[in-house]
Amino acid sequence: MGLGSFFKRNKDKKEGTEIASHIDIDNDNCRGADCEKCVIACPNNVLSKDGDLTVARNPITCKYCRVCEAICPNDCIKVN
Ligand code: SF4
Ligand code: SF4
Repeated sequence: MGLGSFFKRNKDKKEGTEIASHIDIDNDNCRGADCEKCVIACPNNVLSKDGDLTVARNPITCKYCRVCEAICPNDCIKVN
């Protein structure tokens, strides 16, 4: 097994849905597809839309800059 495949396997594992995210999104108050401000503003492509939901797709790439918290008009995203 080459080094490249080792890192790919590790990356795939970390991006699985089982990993606990430090990003809490209150989708009851999120304006979802009508907003997307956090998705667009995140400099590290952590957030994305999943239907009407906003999800932390790649929490491992988060740099804790909290731009998403600052830009959310409904105060429904929290980075812990
Ligand atoms: S804290 Fe920064 S890097 Fe992390 S999800 Fe929010 S905007 Fe993206
Ligand atoms: S900025 Fe707030 S309301 Fe807008 S999509 Fe993100 S979490 Fe939802």
